[in-house]
Amino acid sequence: EAKLDRRAGCMRFSPAQEARLRRANAVAQALRNADFQRELRLEFQPVIDADRNGIIAFEALARWYSPEIGRVSPVDFITAAENAGLIGLMTDVLLVKALAGAAQWPERVHLYFNLSAHDIMMPDFAARAAEIIRASGVSPARIAFEVTETAIIRDFAAAKDTLDALKALGIAVALDDFGTGFSSLSYIHRLPIDKLKIDRSFTSEILTNPACRDIVRSVSGLCRKLGIDCVAEGVETQAQMVLLGRLGCRSMQGYFFSRPLPAEEAAALACARGAAGDADARVVSAA
Ligand code: C2E
Ligand code: MG
Ligand code: MG
Ligand code: MG
Repeated sequence: EAKLDRRAGCMRFSPAQEARLRRANAVAQALRNADFQRELRLEFQPVIDADRNGIIAFEALARWYSPEIGRVSPVDFITAAENAGLIGLMTDVLLVKALAGAAQWPERVHLYFNLSAHDIMMPDFAARAAEIIRASGVSPARIAFEVTETAIIRDFAAAKDTLDALKALGIAVALDDFGTGFSSLSYIHRLPIDKLKIDRSFTSEILTNPACRDIVRSVSGLCRKLGIDCVAEGVETQAQMVLLGRLGCRSMQGYFFSRPLPAEEAAALACARGAAGDADARVVSAA
């Protein structure tokens, strides 16, 4: 929190706050000069079906290396793009690139793509996305858009309109980072949700925290009853994988299986080991 300095009549920031502000300004400035087409890249992290030991999808994760300020984390440049009114353009560029990646994979391997809160509030978003997808030749049935609870509660009615329109196009909707927001289970039946991604913070405590274990068990049980696919994020160890499987999570993602990969590596993996029934679920680290 900035403190009001009454004598100086202005706001005083701590050194840490000042550093953060300076960084945010530098990111905003660099973003204004950025060539999205050239500077934005995607990495792709596999989503594993733990029962069948195969890759069912890849999640596209945005990467930006700015010639001016170097590597910027996606959370920072997505926020900056939202503030600068550039997120619509950025999402379009990223979606085109993600679909070009997916076009290299076998049909059975799906694409998970993250949307920002601003995207789902745009009345024309679904129509824009439909046009980009049509032009890519990738079937909408292979695509899931990830949205967060925080994005939904900002404007529930607008979010519902967009998600309903996506659903009508045959695109799946995944609720990302489940458990970090309000986690109102009512979203699950008030919105067309097909998948629920249990946040990494649960996965990381699952072996040590019995309450965490109970939550994951009941959430995955509820998902099964409702026909929703439950994906555990951030799986880093074999012990976590085994326990999550026992608690009813079938789909998993995390460094234990693979870090996010450059497009060419993801394509090679999708074609070589995308089939169900692989002997070892550790798709990359074991290779
Ligand atoms: P997210 O969608 O929840 O993505 C998961 C994040 O966890 C990614 O971080 C991923 O690299 C990281 N991760 C995956 N497995 C593990 C693991 O086992 N352990 C740990 N410690 N981390 C793991 P990343 O790539 O830095 O992305 C951060 C966030 O930025 C994403 O969270 C998403 O909200 C946002 N983001 C990324 N790409 C895009 C995009 O194209 N569009 C939008 N709107 N947001 C994006
Ligand atoms: Mg995500
Ligand atoms: Mg997530
Ligand atoms: Mg997360």
